[in-house]
Amino acid sequence: MKQKLTGAEIRQAFIDFFEEHRHTFVRSASLVPGGDQTLLFTNAGMVQFKDVFLGTDKRPYTRAVNSQKCLRVAGKHNDLEEVGRDDTHHTFFEMLGNWSFGDYYKKEAIAWGWQLLTEVWGLPKDKLWATCFRDDIGNIPQDDEAAEAWRAQPGMNPEHVLFFGRKDNFWEMAETGPCGPCSEIHLDRGEKYCNMKDVPGHVCRVNHECTRFLELWNLVFIQYNRLGPEKLEPLPATHVDTGMGLERIVSVLQDVDSNYRTDLLWPLIQETRKLTGDSDAEVEANFTPYRVIADHARSAAFLIADGVVPGNLGRNYVPRMIIRRAYRFGGKIGLHNPFLAKVAEKVIEGYGAVYPELTRNRNAILRAITREEEQFQRTLDRATAQLEDLLDGLQKRGKRLLSGEQAADLYTTFGMPFEITRDIARERGMDVDEQVFKKSMDEHRVASGAGKAMGALGGEDVEVFRAVVKELEEKGSLPPSGVTYDPYSHLSVKGTLLAIISDGEPVELASVGQSVEVILPDTCFYIESGGQVSDTGTIRAADNSWEIAVEEMRKPAAGVIVHIGKVVKGTPKVGDPAIAEVDAQRRHDIMRNHTATHLLHAELRKELGEHARQAGSLVAPDRLRFDFTHPEAVTPEQLARIEAGVNHRILGNYALNITIKPLQEAIGEGAMALFGEKYGDTVRTIQIGDTQPFSYELCGGTHVDETGDIGICLITAESSVAAGIRRIEAVTGRGAYELVQRRFQVVHKVAGLLGASPEALAEKTETLLDDLNTNRKLIANLRESLVAAEFEGALKKTVEKDGVHILATSLTDATADTLRLMVDRFRQLHPHSSVIVLGSTPEGRPVLIAAVSDDLIKRGLHAGELVKAAAVPLGGSGGGRPNLAQAGGKDASMMPEALAGVAEWVIAHLK
Ligand SMILES: [Zn+2]
Ligand SMILES: [Zn+2]
Repeated sequence: MKQKLTGAEIRQAFIDFFEEHRHTFVRSASLVPGGDQTLLFTNAGMVQFKDVFLGTDKRPYTRAVNSQKCLRVAGKHNDLEEVGRDDTHHTFFEMLGNWSFGDYYKKEAIAWGWQLLTEVWGLPKDKLWATCFRDDIGNIPQDDEAAEAWRAQPGMNPEHVLFFGRKDNFWEMAETGPCGPCSEIHLDRGEKYCNMKDVPGHVCRVNHECTRFLELWNLVFIQYNRLGPEKLEPLPATHVDTGMGLERIVSVLQDVDSNYRTDLLWPLIQETRKLTGDSDAEVEANFTPYRVIADHARSAAFLIADGVVPGNLGRNYVPRMIIRRAYRFGGKIGLHNPFLAKVAEKVIEGYGAVYPELTRNRNAILRAITREEEQFQRTLDRATAQLEDLLDGLQKRGKRLLSGEQAADLYTTFGMPFEITRDIARERGMDVDEQVFKKSMDEHRVASGAGKAMGALGGEDVEVFRAVVKELEEKGSLPPSGVTYDPYSHLSVKGTLLAIISDGEPVELASVGQSVEVILPDTCFYIESGGQVSDTGTIRAADNSWEIAVEEMRKPAAGVIVHIGKVVKGTPKVGDPAIAEVDAQRRHDIMRNHTATHLLHAELRKELGEHARQAGSLVAPDRLRFDFTHPEAVTPEQLARIEAGVNHRILGNYALNITIKPLQEAIGEGAMALFGEKYGDTVRTIQIGDTQPFSYELCGGTHVDETGDIGICLITAESSVAAGIRRIEAVTGRGAYELVQRRFQVVHKVAGLLGASPEALAEKTETLLDDLNTNRKLIANLRESLVAAEFEGALKKTVEKDGVHILATSLTDATADTLRLMVDRFRQLHPHSSVIVLGSTPEGRPVLIAAVSDDLIKRGLHAGELVKAAAVPLGGSGGGRPNLAQAGGKDASMMPEALAGVAEWVIAHLK
C-alpha cells in the first residue's frame, strides 16, 4: 500500500490530473450563487456553469476542472437532519468536477475517470462497478454508448456494468432545459462495511440499502434539451458534467469508515476534544456532538468568509442556526461558554491555503461566531426550560407534536432556531409541526428577497434574438463572437443597422411610435451589471433621416446585445448606416456615482472594520445606494467621518488605475471580489490611490478618470435592509449640487420669512417656538375663562322639578375637560338632588358630559344611562360611572334636541 495521501493532496491530484488533460482550472464560485435568484446557496459544481449549458454564456475554454464549495442546508437538498447522526452527511462539502462544454464526451470522460481511480489512486479494479441508464418508462434510448465505454476499460469486469432507471441514472436541471443520462462509479468496500449484516435475507447490492457499496463519482452526459414532460430534442453540442464528493473519496483513500475521520475533519474533532478534555473513549461514546460541531464550525467559517453573516432572514439565518446548533451540542459535552471560534480557527488553518477568503476574513469569522454564541448563551437556558415545560405538558396529555406556533414563539422570544427545537423534541421521541412553523418563516424569507423565481432568462424572444444573431454571424455581418461590447472607450459608435425586431419578429423597417429592439455590430451602451444601470441614448441615421430613442439594454445570451427603444423620427431600415450615441451627461453622472461607491466602500471598511462588505448596490444617474454587512446602525458621528473621508479622497484627485489581469493575480494582490458576483478568469480591476491603493476592486463598471471629477459626495440616508445588512444612500456631482441648492433655497426662504440671517436661524426658531408655547397656554386659559363666564350665565337655566335641580345646556367651544370643570362647579352649588348635562361641539364634534348627585343615584338615576339617552339625537353613544359619564356624537345640529329631553328623562326615571 502506498503512503496515504492527505485530503489536500487528493484535491490537488484531481485538479492536476485534469489539467494534464488540457482542462482549465476554474476557482470555486462563492457559496452565494452569482446572479441566480432560484438558489439559496451553491449546492453543486455546475451552478457556476449553468449559463454555459443554457447557452446564455460562453467561456474562453471548453474543458474545466474545479473543486467547488457547496452547502446543502436549506431547500430541496437539505442534509441538516442527517448531519451528526451518520458519518457521511455534511452541511458544507467540496465537490470535485471535470467539465466538457461541447468538447469531449462519454468515451473520454469514462476513460479518464477509470484511469484516475485505478492508476493514479490505485483502487482495485475488481471492486469497481459502473451504472448506466436504461429508461424504466421506455421512451428514452438506453445509454449503450456509456456501457460500451465502461466494458472497454482495462480490467473492468463486464458484469460490473449495470443499468438503472430515471431515478438513479437520468439527470435534469429543471422541468425543462438541458438534461441527459448519467453514469455512476460505485466502490465495493467489502462485507465489513455492510451495516445490514444482521438483517435476515439481506443481500448487498449497488444502489441498494446498505453501506457496503459507495457511490464515488457521477458522470452526467448532457445531450438533450427537455421541452416538456414528454418531449426531448437532441442538443447541437453535448456536454459532460461530473461530480465527486471530496470527503468521500478521501475517506476511501485514507481507508477510514467515516468522513469525519479523514484529515479534513479529524483535526476539528481533536480541537474540540482539547476543549472538553475528553478521553478517546469518551469521544467515541459522544461522537454525534463532535461530528455536529466539526461540520457546523466548517460551514460557519466558509459562510462568513463569503459574506453571509448570522442574521434573522434568508441566507443569514443559516449561519445563525448552525452556530447556535453547534453551541447547543457543545453543551452536551460540557462546553458551556463560547468555544466554536477555536474550532473555526482550525478550519481556517486547514483550508486557508486553498480558499484564501478564509484567511482574509479570519477576524470577521471568529468575531461573528463568538458574538452569535454569546447572544444565544443568554437565552438558551430559558428557551430550553420553556420548551421542556411545553413538552412535559404534551407528554402528560399523551400528545407527541409540538405546535408550529409555539416553535415560532420560541424563535421570536428567545432566538431558538426551529432546527434546535426539533432536535430537542426528537431527543424525547416527539416532533414539531414544521408546516405551520414554516408558514410564518416563509413569509420572512420571501420578504428578505431570497428565493425569487428564475426570472426573464428564458422566454421565446431570447430564441428570436439568438436566431437573428446566428444568421448574422453566418452571413459574416457579425463575427462568431457576436456583437462587440465596449462601453469603456467611446460614447458613440458608427455601424450598420443589422436587425430590427418588433413584437418578437424580425422586421425590415419600423415607423414613428413603434417599439423596437435593434442590433448593431458593436455597441458602447453599458448593459446593467454590478449594480450599475444600463445606458440610455439615441441611435440615428447617419443622414439624420430617422432616430430611435434607446431606453434599455439587454444581453439575453452570449454575443447577443439588444438596444430596446422607440422610433421617434423617420423610418429606420435594416442596412441603414447608423450612429449610436450614449446620453453623455447621464453617463457621466453614473460614472461619478460608481467611483464614489468604491470610495464609500473603502471608507466604510476603514471606519467600521473589515467585516463591512458589499451586499448589494445600485449605481444610477441621480443617486447611489450601497448595502453592506454590519450588525448595527452606523452612528451619526461615524457617518460624518465616512462622508468626510470620501470627500477627502475626492479632493485628493487621485487617478484611477484600470487594468485587466488574471483573477488569481488580482485576488492575490488583495482585490475585493464582490459578494454574489460571477467572475471570469481574467478580470477588470479598479485601483484608486498612488503607490498604495486605498481602494482595489474587481469591477466591470464605468468610472471617472480622476476622483476630483466626482465633485462632492453627500450621504442622504442610512437605514436597515435586513438583519445584519445596512444601507447607505448618497448623491454626487450634479445630484449633490442640486441637493445643496434645494437646501439653500429652503434656508434662504425661511430666513426671509423669519427676518433673520441664515446663521441666526436656529436661535431665532427656538425663540419663536417658546413664544408659540407660551401663547398656546395663554389661549387655553382664556378659553377656559370664557367658558366659565358663559357657564355662570347659563346657571340661570337651572330648573327645579320635584325638588331636583336640573341643568341641561350647551357651551361654546368647550373641550370635555373644560366641561368637567364646569360640572364640578355645578356640584359645589348643588351638592344634593342635582342633575347636569353639558354639551358642546369643540372642533365640530359634539360632546356631552352628565353628572348625577349621590342621593339621586340611590333613587335609581345613572349618569351613564342618562348621557346615552341624551346622545341618541346626536347619532352617538356613551357611558360611564353612575355619578359621571360622557358621550360623543356626530350631528352637532341636534344639540338642542339632545338637551331638551333631559329634564323629562330624569323625572321619568326617578323612583
Ligand atoms: Zn449489505
Ligand atoms: Zn464597481
